[in-house]
Amino acid sequence: MKVQISDIISGKDRNKKIDYNFQIPQFDFEGDKIKSSGSCEVVGIISSDSDILILNAEVKVDLEMICSRCLDTFIYPIDIDIEERFTTNSKSEDDEAVVVIDDVLDITEIVETTIISTLPIKRVCKEDCKGLCQECGCNLNSNTCSCNKEDVDIRFESLRGLFDNKEV
Ligand SMILES: [Zn+2]
Ligand SMILES: [Zn+2]
Repeated sequence: MKVQISDIISGKDRNKKIDYNFQIPQFDFEGDKIKSSGSCEVVGIISSDSDILILNAEVKVDLEMICSRCLDTFIYPIDIDIEERFTTNSKSEDDEAVVVIDDVLDITEIVETTIISTLPIKRVCKEDCKGLCQECGCNLNSNTCSCNKEDVDIRFESLRGLFDNKEV
């Protein structure tokens, strides 16, 4: 999604309302492939202040992620406000403003970068996700299996044996 900003730069318009729906292409994040479920909604305004353009927008999109514990796909809703500054003047005194070339703002790229900066390192379907059973691989959120409990007890017993031996 690219937005022409020449009218704002030339001063013909003081600001420009934006209201877009577009697809975010699948992207990589720390080894995971993340894609959106449905379209991304961007609503806001681009306003000008001398040679600086300010984009203020609300970004909403549902991302499909893989839970790192149970490997299930889950929806991670994004609802963030972004504020970005731009300029077409490469000698602008505003250090934070991103210099744009060709009077075009690439909204998709801006949104993608912002979303990535807000993604959590730990991606789990829910805080208390039980993950997969180490033995049989079943999803412990929806299944119970008999393989784990006894195993843990046996290991614990043998560990205790080790400690007992050391103490002697
Ligand atoms: Zn999970
Ligand atoms: Zn199991």
